[in-house]
Amino acid sequence: MKPQLHEIDVDQTLATTASLLAGQSIPDSVTPDDRIYQLIKDARKLYSDLAEPKSLTIEIERDQFAELFIGERNNHPDALLTELIPLADSFTLFASTAGQKVCTEIERLFASNEFPLASMLDATASEGADLVAEITQEMIRKQLKNNDQLDAGQELLRFSPGYCGWHISGQHKLFDTLQPSLIGIELSESYLMSPLKSVSGVILKAPIEAFDIYDNFPYCADCRNRSCRDRYHTLVAKMENNK
Ligand code: SF4
Repeated sequence: MKPQLHEIDVDQTLATTASLLAGQSIPDSVTPDDRIYQLIKDARKLYSDLAEPKSLTIEIERDQFAELFIGERNNHPDALLTELIPLADSFTLFASTAGQKVCTEIERLFASNEFPLASMLDATASEGADLVAEITQEMIRKQLKNNDQLDAGQELLRFSPGYCGWHISGQHKLFDTLQPSLIGIELSESYLMSPLKSVSGVILKAPIEAFDIYDNFPYCADCRNRSCRDRYHTLVAKMENNK
């Protein structure tokens, strides 16, 4: 399979005011200051002007992914994907980014001591990069469905090195295979992606029950987003809606 480039409409990746407020941990009971709304407005405008969301994907065979997943042999012995690889029947590597320009602007704002706007733009771009990955997953889902390759009861879910026992060093082999430099994403020796607001990983297609994941693995204590239960419930809701 050849890599596919996906150009994504920036408006689709623009974080909402509500989600940015939620990200600032402002309780519903508190009415934010007008200055917060102005910051959000300015950050969203900057993101709209500067972000260049795109992603690169390639579908590979199960055996190829199983070898790639072993990576540099640093994965946790109970890594989640070890269980999921035999259950999945489609493996799509992806790398998604909000682009370099918005990252350069975040750096410039921090360097100019404009911390409030820099932080809000940082949050907007983080959410944007995640939305690029989510939209990419949805594009792959549509392709599989249009090609009659999505069976009843199957769904897609994405996983990234650094989570669920897949060691961050797994990015090396992922990058070797996918070559995200084609869309301007590079990987440093310390596994940092540039542009910083980028996400890489694999999109699996499997029976939805395979994604009924519980956050009780030894490595879950260090997980920053603990999104597995929410993502599973979102998949179930989507499947119900599509019936
Ligand atoms: S809490 Fe969920 S998403 Fe986080 S590492 Fe554990 S299984 Fe993975």
